[in-house]
Amino acid sequence: MIVFKNIIGHTDLKERLIKSVQEGVIPHARLFSGPEGAGALPLSVAYARYLLCTNRQADDACGTCPSCQKINKLAHPDLHFVFPIINKKGGSSKDALCDDFLPEWREFLEKTPYSNLSGWLENIQAGNAQGTIYARESNEIVRKLNFKSYESDYKIMIIWLPEKMQEAAANKLLKLLEEPPEKTVFLLVSEEPDKIITTIRSRCQQLIVPLISDENARQSTDETDMFLELFKAIMRNSWKRDIRGMKAKSEEFTTLGRDKQKAFLAYAQRQVRENFLNALNLPEINYMNENEADFAVNFHKFVNERNVEDFMNELALAERHIESNVNAKMVFFDLSMKIAVLLKK
Ligand SMILES: [Zn+2]
Repeated sequence: MIVFKNIIGHTDLKERLIKSVQEGVIPHARLFSGPEGAGALPLSVAYARYLLCTNRQADDACGTCPSCQKINKLAHPDLHFVFPIINKKGGSSKDALCDDFLPEWREFLEKTPYSNLSGWLENIQAGNAQGTIYARESNEIVRKLNFKSYESDYKIMIIWLPEKMQEAAANKLLKLLEEPPEKTVFLLVSEEPDKIITTIRSRCQQLIVPLISDENARQSTDETDMFLELFKAIMRNSWKRDIRGMKAKSEEFTTLGRDKQKAFLAYAQRQVRENFLNALNLPEINYMNENEADFAVNFHKFVNERNVEDFMNELALAERHIESNVNAKMVFFDLSMKIAVLLKK
């Protein structure tokens, strides 16, 4: 159940949110921004629940009132969700809307609220498709908000990853934020707030959700383990200038979907950064898990002030290429060749 007390860390943020509700200070729009894993999404849901709870306690929602019970099933008529989706393949002539994915969304929020976009896209079997909030979704948003609230004071619209909105959808959202319907609360939850248009950002009360720096944040997951193995393999192949190895890994890379490929390249940038900090002997600002730290013991010596910038640039460039649908195998192979040169710098 997503309530404040089940959310790891963020004591100050929770207190601030609770206090604002108790004081009746409810902004029309809030932007929760935090990197993946920080818990911005569950935090926004806990806040929404608290707003809608009919038996609010001093420090959390009650969890048992009719409103809370509906939220447990994510079936509250005044709580709506928008999130990136894909167009379903096959049969259906109708373009997909978020509501078509509600069963998967419920499961995702219940089981893996700390997961990220690639985790979500896997749940809906997106394959190579990238998650998008389509322009047509904005008509749905308007339609839903035009209804009177059913049983609560507020209608709440949680938009997860507004940076994935098509331009037309973003423009429509901006209009709504400029003239918000009565008693409507927008909660935007972003991993990359820089990619949201400034006119939207400036209309939101901003809330930064940092990564939790305790043990919980450093645990490895299946995905980070897989990414780390791939990262190690590229570095080894490039160091040995093992062309056959590079080719084999490029093949493997293509089997990940586009969003996973991008997630991996973002992961690789983080590793390079962390290893560079490690090389500078700044372990206190390091967010590595145990396996990553093991690899860094030797690898950090290869990241230095002569190559770190190019390293980051090449990885970011590869990420952009994937984003714009350049052939993944070529991107990856090309990247491996460039890294081979960089490692000797
Ligand atoms: Zn309640």
